[in-house]
Amino acid sequence: LEIQEGRVVRVGAEGEPYPSQPGSDGQAYDAEGLLATPGFVDAHTHPIFKGWRSGEFVRRSRGDSYQQIAASGGGISSSIVGVRESSTETLAGLIRTRLDRFLELGATSIEAKSGYGLTVEDELKSLRALQLAAAGHPLEVSPTLLGAHVVPPEFRSDPDSYLDLVCNEMIPRSADERLAHAVDVFLEDGAFSLKQAKRIFQAGKRCGLGLRIHADQFHSGGGARLAAEYSALSADHMDYTDEAGLEVLAKAGVVMTLLPGAVFFLGREHYASARRMIELGGRLALSTDFNPGSSPTQSMPLMMTLAGIKMNLTPAESLWAATMGGACALSRKQDLGTLHPGYQADFCLWEAGELDLIPYRCGDLVPEAVFKRGRLVARRGVRLQCNNG
Ligand SMILES: [Zn+2]
Repeated sequence: LEIQEGRVVRVGAEGEPYPSQPGSDGQAYDAEGLLATPGFVDAHTHPIFKGWRSGEFVRRSRGDSYQQIAASGGGISSSIVGVRESSTETLAGLIRTRLDRFLELGATSIEAKSGYGLTVEDELKSLRALQLAAAGHPLEVSPTLLGAHVVPPEFRSDPDSYLDLVCNEMIPRSADERLAHAVDVFLEDGAFSLKQAKRIFQAGKRCGLGLRIHADQFHSGGGARLAAEYSALSADHMDYTDEAGLEVLAKAGVVMTLLPGAVFFLGREHYASARRMIELGGRLALSTDFNPGSSPTQSMPLMMTLAGIKMNLTPAESLWAATMGGACALSRKQDLGTLHPGYQADFCLWEAGELDLIPYRCGDLVPEAVFKRGRLVARRGVRLQCNNG
């Protein structure tokens, strides 16, 4: 693999002798015996939060329901309090350690959402903290405003007023300040309706932002048609999307982002119909949905395991979804997600004789080395801080 200025310029043929001279800059990395894959492109994450919510995990294991936990101030409400109480700098420090972890586990680009501030200032603060954390960090971050995550407690009796705030202030300001590339909305009973989601899409489109949607996670709610109609970048979850919905998404070329980590961690059994999506010619991405409530993992290899066991994807299919599929969801299919000449030299080296070993090891296998734009940035699960060739 020959790299110049952070891009792949040549891929040697199998069995071709290793060049006796290092590249023009004199640097070489001997990866003999290792497997190279593109770096993961995790196209759906929520890393802007304060504390973990492990107490809820304990309560759930004792039999408490999600509703009981939410009613006693747990759940998403506790994350909202955490973000509102934190300064931009505090949040940025927390996010930075999470960006390190993504990199260590093999992701070289991610999408990251706000969504735990839920006031104009707290959502903008979240996105600024993300920008601050990502500045100078090797992991590439594509920011998304998720002001329409849930209706915050103070607007529960008047959700449309909150929506006005999102559409008239949050979205235009995050676009003006270049804090977000996309907007997202959670379409679900208890979150936002189809009509409200449409308003978010209209406002996002007016401001020139890309569109994403959380839809059909627990019920089929019409999000597929909406995403297709507005040419959304991605329609995410889609666990309960009906056949007609899958067809319109596939036809419109909207990326369907599979999030099996959330299904698994919530103890549910209804996974997205990934095989049917592929049969219909749909484009799939595979992501962690990393968040403190329903998917507290940053491991893309573990998502490949779940994709194989729960959705019958082959290792090659899940790797594609976790790399090129993610690049499509980020609108970056021209330069991320594969190692062909011209693409960014973002890749992982694995102590694995074959690809199958990555999902088979059930999240245990960590890349031997991670490279971003041709630079070694993590080794055996540890982020490297210095400049390496
Ligand atoms: Zn999500």
